[in-house]
Amino acid sequence: MSVLDFEAVIGLEVHCQLSTRSKIFCSCPASPPAGVSVSSLQPNQNVCEVCCGHPGALPVMNAEAVRLAVRAGLAVGSRIRQASVFARKNYFYPDLPKGYQISQYDSAICEGGVVEIEVDGARKQARLRRIHLEEDAGKSVHEFGVTLVNLNRAGVPLIEIVGEPDLRTPEEAGDYLRELHAIVTTLGITDGNMQEGNFRCDANVSIRRKGSSPFGTRVEIKNVNSFRFVEKAIAFEIQRQVAVLSAGKVVVQETRLYDPQKDQTFSMRTKEEAEDYRYFPDPDLLPIVVPENWIEEERRAIPELPAQKRDRYRKDYLLPAQDTRLLTSSREWMQFFESVMASFVSTLPVDAFAKAAANLISGELSRLSHEAGLALESARVTPIHVARLVELLLGNQLSSTAAKKVLQLAWSSGDSVDVIVAREGLIQQNDAGALEPLVSAVLSENPQAVEELCSGKEKVLGFLVGLVMKKSKGRANPALIQDLIRKAVAATTQLES
Ligand code: ADP
Ligand code: MG
Ligand code: ZN
Repeated sequence: MSVLDFEAVIGLEVHCQLSTRSKIFCSCPASPPAGVSVSSLQPNQNVCEVCCGHPGALPVMNAEAVRLAVRAGLAVGSRIRQASVFARKNYFYPDLPKGYQISQYDSAICEGGVVEIEVDGARKQARLRRIHLEEDAGKSVHEFGVTLVNLNRAGVPLIEIVGEPDLRTPEEAGDYLRELHAIVTTLGITDGNMQEGNFRCDANVSIRRKGSSPFGTRVEIKNVNSFRFVEKAIAFEIQRQVAVLSAGKVVVQETRLYDPQKDQTFSMRTKEEAEDYRYFPDPDLLPIVVPENWIEEERRAIPELPAQKRDRYRKDYLLPAQDTRLLTSSREWMQFFESVMASFVSTLPVDAFAKAAANLISGELSRLSHEAGLALESARVTPIHVARLVELLLGNQLSSTAAKKVLQLAWSSGDSVDVIVAREGLIQQNDAGALEPLVSAVLSENPQAVEELCSGKEKVLGFLVGLVMKKSKGRANPALIQDLIRKAVAATTQLES
């Protein structure tokens, strides 16, 4: 038996921290003030009797958390439950001082819903089971041979978005997670910071023989906090389960952890059943009753969603699907792209403008931002930089190599495009007379490549163009170089024959 005889069944449970000012059941700050990183907070700085679970302390529901959960539900087409109930999920862990987590069990605030993903150009609806509200636990820190507990996170509001087992491949799961992330960040209900664990997922994975309908035994991979890792963890898990079944053994229902360094999952514990948690309604909290007018207000607060934006970019700017991906992946990239488009000048074709802007943003700009680990909002490069670069590119005044260089320099200095272009002398060389000597130099230095080109190996053309570009310090117009090389080569071949 091989992987090909099996089909994977995947369902994700996504935890997403809501951006409220205070925690879900007390007035402690839910996160550090803007601009301050979580790691610079003192351990146990943001705690009180309620989130530390002191006896007799009573929780008070944070209304803003309810609103944000409702907004999330409406955006994915969930039904908002008129009255939903909090339950205690009992378990022991040092970072859970109360001995139970306040969550929702059989009546969640949002029921059903759907996330649309695009797989190889085909659209697929991944259904949601529910979205419920709950509090986060604290954090155990294992260092110096001891375990320390930090409760700054305890009581931070979360929504858990529980997906139906509708996903079939690691790629679908990755796409689903990316799309959910784009939706919740566009809604502005979370910062979506995955490194901090503010958006993380548990992946449930099982396999079954192709064509057979009952689901197999599932394994839950806990707390994966990157898109790439979720795909890799699931891919590994599928392989592992195929090997288990192929060896005539059975998959054990358990919780596993993914180790990115080893690219493997490891057994953590056998999976608890719901009964083990002794869920019961929390007697300290009233049911959440969502007022009708809140639902209407939250519905109105929903901005254009990523899928709608992708459709609009395709229709209005003729941008292909893969070009719209990064642009609609989060609020910051969408806002950046749309600000660039806002400075569009009508003398240029709008689709060419959009395409060039999309290329710069998804290419060099995203690379720079990832490399620096810096959010676009705090970067020195602004939409004005990109809009000006696109104008120069489309006006043939700047080569794309030079445009990249300007972007890099703007990234570090914040100087305007025109200042950088003038300082670096990057205006595109469109003068054949000035380029011809560079072309002949490159051709005579590379007789082998020239020979290959003459014999029809078109691939070396790009290589030669690159060399001339280098000699011109990125200033030459590549289309013009191509012409000049072809002409020069044609001339030599004629001489020889
Ligand atoms: P629990 O309540 O024990 O967490 P659920 O039935 O509510 O279990 O499912 C939790 C998650 O596991 C859901 O996201 C669901 O899609 C997924 N899931 C359930 N059964 C399977 C299965 N056989 N294979 C893969 N995923 C599954
Ligand atoms: Mg679960
Ligand atoms: Zn508190």
